Amino acid sequence: MILSPRARLAVVSMHTSPTASLGQNANGGMNVYIREICAAFAACGIATDVFTRRVGADDPEVERMASLSRVVYLPAGHDHSDKYELLHHVGEFADEALAFIREHQLNYDLVYSHYWLSGAVAELLTEKLALPWVHTAHTLALVKNRQLAPGAKPEPAERIQIERRIAAEADLLVASTEDEGGDLALMYGADRDRIQVVAPGIDRSTFQPMAASEARRKIGFAGQRLLLFVGRLERLKGVETILRALALAADRRHQDVRLLVLGGDSRDAQQSEKERLKVVAADLGISDRVDFLGSVAHHELPYFYAAAEACLMPSYSESFGLVGLEAQACGCPVVASNVSGLASVVREGVTGYLVDGHDPAEWADRILSLLDDPENARQMGRRGVLLAQRYPWGLTADRIWTAVAPLLESAQQNAVHPN
Ligand code: UDP
Repeated sequence: MILSPRARLAVVSMHTSPTASLGQNANGGMNVYIREICAAFAACGIATDVFTRRVGADDPEVERMASLSRVVYLPAGHDHSDKYELLHHVGEFADEALAFIREHQLNYDLVYSHYWLSGAVAELLTEKLALPWVHTAHTLALVKNRQLAPGAKPEPAERIQIERRIAAEADLLVASTEDEGGDLALMYGADRDRIQVVAPGIDRSTFQPMAASEARRKIGFAGQRLLLFVGRLERLKGVETILRALALAADRRHQDVRLLVLGGDSRDAQQSEKERLKVVAADLGISDRVDFLGSVAHHELPYFYAAAEACLMPSYSESFGLVGLEAQACGCPVVASNVSGLASVVREGVTGYLVDGHDPAEWADRILSLLDDPENARQMGRRGVLLAQRYPWGLTADRIWTAVAPLLESAQQNAVHPN
């Protein structure tokens, strides 16, 4: 990485904070991404201020996240505003950010926004501050709407319009996979030369393999055979498919296997997905074999991954799927739906299985093939550990910075020789 000790980035994360508890509400992969990228930038001497919303009386005005990284909490919207309500507070949030920047006489080299709401904020900030703008979408409405889970609400037209503007105006779009880059170009009309594909990473000091027996003892399931789901509970994640698959698998063999469901409901949801799933499990007669454990702290997850014989990811769409990488880093094979983000993380037949569609019988077959052949599952787990080693967050940050550096150079030249 080209070290640029004076570089300071204004990172916009209006929707959720990188310091929020994960696996519930809207807090998941994006929060981890922002936290890890800021830490990796800090390790290279690049400073970041992450602008997010104040959601509780306990939130300070400013909090340090890593050596050169701070989180700035700004008042905008209500504590529990959902993402669509937040759209009405974009202007207010941008004004608060500008006021903070002026009050503290801060100079930034770049605005880096995450998710469409922050993109709408960045649009206002970059106009006022005349700075280059980098954006990571994390998810795209047109892609989500292409394959909706039964009962899921499509993303609204306003979001699509904003995403189109971001695709047209941002100086650099960082996509997590080649497919996402293609979607930005084909569905949103972004110029290919402003799209950079950079895979997210994994914290290998946290996510490491360990003996399954020890891990099961640690999490209170000693001697049990376990399947695992980890993620925010919403329709998109497709958990109903694996409940139905578990019922089929248990009918055929393996009546002793338990499914642990980690993660909580989204506050945005009108109906609790967890309660709905409990009813499905009861109707299938498998309530006694499914444990809804709620959200679990990130640093506790390695025990769960190492304890499980398979991590199941039946998502309807996923722009990347950090859980798949975390599971593999801990030696756990992954059975995932064959959607682009997950197909970029899981190697079919090598580190797990990719399943087309959501037919419970297909899912049961793949799950049974792992449960029936523990040696094959162990080998897949070992290969997953090797695969995950290729994704250090430092490399993600390095690749982003390499793509960003020319923007900074031309901004500096323009400042010296304005037209
Ligand atoms: N996560 C967590 N505790 C939970 C559930 C999830 O720490 O109880 C974390 C998980 O480890 C992962 C992130 O939330 O890092 C979810 O990321 P992913 O990309 O899989 O899904 P997203 O939230 O982006 O849809």
